[in-house]
Amino acid sequence: MNKIPFNLPLVIGNELSFIEEALKNKELIGDGYYSKRCQEWFKDNLGLAYSFMVPNCTQALEMAAILLNIENGDEVIMPSYTFVSTANAFVLRGAKIRFIDVNPETMNIDDGLIESAITDKTKAIVVVHYAGISCNMNNVIAIAKKNNIKVVEDAAQALGSKYNSKSLGSFGDIACFSFHGTKNYTSGGEGGLVVINNPELLERAEIIREKGTNRSKFYRGQVDKYNWVDLGSSYLPSEIQSSYLLAQLENFDLINKKRNEIWNKYYSRLTGVLHLELMNIPRENESNGHLFYVKLKDESERSDIIKHLNEYGISSAFHYVPLHSSQAGKKYSDFIGADKYTTVDSERLLRLPLYYDLTIEQVDYICDSLIKFWSGNV
Ligand SMILES: *Cc1c(COP(=O)(O)O)cnc(C)c1O
Repeated sequence: MNKIPFNLPLVIGNELSFIEEALKNKELIGDGYYSKRCQEWFKDNLGLAYSFMVPNCTQALEMAAILLNIENGDEVIMPSYTFVSTANAFVLRGAKIRFIDVNPETMNIDDGLIESAITDKTKAIVVVHYAGISCNMNNVIAIAKKNNIKVVEDAAQALGSKYNSKSLGSFGDIACFSFHGTKNYTSGGEGGLVVINNPELLERAEIIREKGTNRSKFYRGQVDKYNWVDLGSSYLPSEIQSSYLLAQLENFDLINKKRNEIWNKYYSRLTGVLHLELMNIPRENESNGHLFYVKLKDESERSDIIKHLNEYGISSAFHYVPLHSSQAGKKYSDFIGADKYTTVDSERLLRLPLYYDLTIEQVDYICDSLIKFWSGNV
């Protein structure tokens, strides 16, 4: 049997014809035809009314930090179980991060703990929809409103997922998506999207993304020359990236369906297997099948299983090492309250291969191989 990698970036088939068209039409500079087509797609299909293509999700998060005027000494609340960029983007602006524990059911921020971490310096709550599964957004938004704090959704993994029938990325003041090659849809290996749901932030978002200038207004004929008016940087991706993504968006449902078939196959094959806790999808969610994980007894069993699966040619992977225990995390953050689940559950979480090109037969083989770890039936 051929080796089964942990992930393969998606190439659906029609990307090259979209890129060729962009080359033929000399549509290469950012914010051109393809960026606009992608942004329109998000509006028409996911209800994300104001979105901007960006070079990656890390920069979408950095834009969010500038947009929320994060300054030295401000505090931002988030889970420690996340990708480094979630925190780094805010630390770059001088923020102190206040990590709180995750809810072990979803590995998302435990919304019941948010209020205990709020002080008069708290500027934002950053939620991460881990595995494309929503945080408890009703409660997060209610807490934020009550305390006059902004909400950022790190929706890097969540494109196409819904919570109470509404797209993730449409709840927070700002939301950030990734089109990195490990995500469900990619703009050629690297890419991202920032979504502005709070209309008060829209005008500055455009300016920050255009090097701090009002160039977008100039192109719309609203000012007669453009100027440096605010902080900013260059957050435009190339049209090559956007044309690549558009090719995949045109196959959105097909891709989403296939990933969910794989997810469902894992779930049904592994249900009832002793020693395994399966990832779960809470009732309010429609999932995008971003990833499938299981929880094991402990870290040592996980290492043994990674080795065991490797012997069957299967690559599996653990995920985040909690940020509060990292070298930079110790410097720039505090963990508020007890670390009941973040560390122990991150140590026993194992992700199985899940990508568009994976076949149902391969999923069967992976499940058979995993189960053999305990049956000793090699
Ligand atoms: C992938 C990911 C990011 C970063 O995305 P890039 O596009 O690679 O910058 C940020 N946060 C989370 C939760 C992610 O999974």
